[in-house]
Amino acid sequence: MATLNKEYIEFDKEIKLNENKKLDLKRSRKNIRKNIQKWFKDNKPNELQPKFHGQGSFEMNTGNNPIIEYDSDGNKIYKYDLDYGVYFIENEGEDNKRNIDTWHDWVYQSVENYTNQKPIRKNTCIRVVFSDGHHIDLPIYYKNGDVIEIAHRSKGWCLSDPKSFYEWFNEEKKNKNRLESIVRCLKAWKNFRELNNTNLKLPSGFELTILATNNYVDKDNLDDSFRETVRTVLSKLNEKFECLRPTTPVNENVFETYSETRKKDFLTTLESLLKDCDKAKEEKNYKKASERLRSYQFGDRFPLGADKDEENQSNKLHSALGSSLITPKPYGY
Ligand SMILES: [Mg+2]
Repeated sequence: MATLNKEYIEFDKEIKLNENKKLDLKRSRKNIRKNIQKWFKDNKPNELQPKFHGQGSFEMNTGNNPIIEYDSDGNKIYKYDLDYGVYFIENEGEDNKRNIDTWHDWVYQSVENYTNQKPIRKNTCIRVVFSDGHHIDLPIYYKNGDVIEIAHRSKGWCLSDPKSFYEWFNEEKKNKNRLESIVRCLKAWKNFRELNNTNLKLPSGFELTILATNNYVDKDNLDDSFRETVRTVLSKLNEKFECLRPTTPVNENVFETYSETRKKDFLTTLESLLKDCDKAKEEKNYKKASERLRSYQFGDRFPLGADKDEENQSNKLHSALGSSLITPKPYGY
């Protein structure tokens, strides 16, 4: 029974966004903000001016280093993913709301030539992609008093509150010791599995965060806690395939739009994760146990365990006694 706690902790350290990279990405965010603000000042001086607010994994400390990929010229790219909310805040007593498409267009225009790639128009945001691979998603919000709505290009205005989501998570993790690490491990698993199978579309980091939080199992080491959390997630989803948003719009089932194929693929991939976690646990040899997780679930960012067997308590005692009895005496003793 190999417990790979040391290896999981090392893995978590490897995948976790470090402070220097964080500062780097914050700088990138700040620069794009300045650019957008300048564009609005110059081009739309009589309109509401945008304000900005961070959101997503960055605010929850669950950001990961992505697995390195290569562009067509063989250059390394790092697909860091940042979300930066663009807010238009209503002046009291005025109706400053513009069309969803108008605001999407303006934000698009403000960043159109910001990098050497054209931004991507998504339903919920404008995505700006940089040459090193990182991207910044710019969702657009309208705030009127306490009511915040996101400009969704296909669904229209939808109630939303990204700040309350990360506040919810940051509160939840206070008494769930290993939750942050588990979320990072799940996101690293998603990264590896999707890279190996480009047809696979696992749940978003946001959705994995909800599942891990609601099904968290506390154990005294990260290996056991991760595996048992995965087991609970899977059994809950098999009972009922849903993932309820904990904050505005509360109880919205974010899995509702999943196709049957996507649902089946997720359950099958999650089952395979659990099976390998169980096999790794049953394995005596640390190296073999870690190889199983490296090959099929996490890739080689997961460290290789030592090539030795886990000793059970009686073995430990035995070898301790044995070694004192049979240690060869120095020659001539
Ligand atoms: Mg994003």
